[in-house]
Amino acid sequence: MPLPTVYLKPGKEKALRNRHPWVFSGAVGKEPEVEPGTLVAVASHEGHILAFGHLEPKATLRVRCFHFGSTLPASETDLWQAHLEAAVQRRGRLLDLSNTTGYRLIFAEGDALPGVVCDRYGDGAVLQLRTYGSRRMLEVTERYLQALGLKHLFLKGESMEQKSKLGPETESKWLFGDTDYLHFIENGLKFMADPVNGQKTGFFVDQRPNRERMAHYAKGRRVLECFSYSGGFGVYALKGGAKGVLSLDGSQHALALAEQHVLGNFGAEPRHTVLKADVFDYLKGLEQDQFDLILLDPPAFSKHSSTVERAARGYKELNMKALAKLPSGGLLFTFSCSQHIDRDLFRKILFSAAADIGRPVRILEQLTQGADHPVDIYHPEGEYLKGIILEVD
Ligand code: SAH
Repeated sequence: MPLPTVYLKPGKEKALRNRHPWVFSGAVGKEPEVEPGTLVAVASHEGHILAFGHLEPKATLRVRCFHFGSTLPASETDLWQAHLEAAVQRRGRLLDLSNTTGYRLIFAEGDALPGVVCDRYGDGAVLQLRTYGSRRMLEVTERYLQALGLKHLFLKGESMEQKSKLGPETESKWLFGDTDYLHFIENGLKFMADPVNGQKTGFFVDQRPNRERMAHYAKGRRVLECFSYSGGFGVYALKGGAKGVLSLDGSQHALALAEQHVLGNFGAEPRHTVLKADVFDYLKGLEQDQFDLILLDPPAFSKHSSTVERAARGYKELNMKALAKLPSGGLLFTFSCSQHIDRDLFRKILFSAAADIGRPVRILEQLTQGADHPVDIYHPEGEYLKGIILEVD
């Protein structure tokens, strides 16, 4: 039986020919009436089949493709499973799994599995399925992950408020297994993810390579870890020989985890303190020269393109405050995970913050997400994490 087929408007096939996996509603000429998330073929106006993907009727992002070419090489299930297998094999080649057991196992378009995010934490994992298509593939995905030998799998749902405009609202639940914390190591350091009450999937594995840079620069420095969550950067700073680390977050639950992480790795550690506070307020009241290294790793200020301007002002204000409080020779580790603030814009925001402070500032390093968050070169939207290490005179 031929697959239901989406026909593009004349001349709208260029992006697909360039292997960009998204088909937007404006490019669609004719589409079949099917359930949300159904596998469809996508054809040019002339009827040449170019790709295959999941259709979300009514959505702006209408089809998310995961196979290019004129024929489907296998059944939908087999193809999906082959992509799962490839994602897992890739991690085996990219990472040293003997000292890192917490990492992103599946990264959506970066692994040709649109809608799927899965973070592995030791013998468990946390799965997010953000589209109708990926929800339809739940069973095959779950079966595959169980066959890997995972003992616990938590499906992290999306509430109406959190979820992007697309995709179904879903509840959170254990698909199999059940545990308070998932234990794992990252570069040999011990951490825990709390899938049920934690943020996102329970830990921010995307920052792993950047935490290594923290260990590198922290020696002898007094470190202020703003937006610490469970203290990932702080643990690396202590490992790297920081003189002291203050973990600052608005969530008591996150700070309790940060304390446990420090205890689990170093035992009682007088160099570490935590403080529940609003970062903006705290920085405003902070005296200069109290810290030699400040980390800013805020949540995304802009989740939609419409709020970019406001978000940019937020980033500028935050970075100005931090830059102003550093002593000469001080370092600022600053990040943005907002998809709509690209690398260039982030640089411009930091330029403008530095210019308003009026101090000499140098870029030492530019950082991004780890290799377990690969970016399909035809889908630059997959790059979301920007980081810069600045030195101020
Ligand atoms: N750096 C962390 C991830 C940070 S996630 C890591 O590597 O694991 C963002 C964190 O910012 C969350 O823990 C959230 O509780 C905190 N947060 C958000 N807004 C805040 C604010 N205004 N003041 C203090 N903390 C805030």
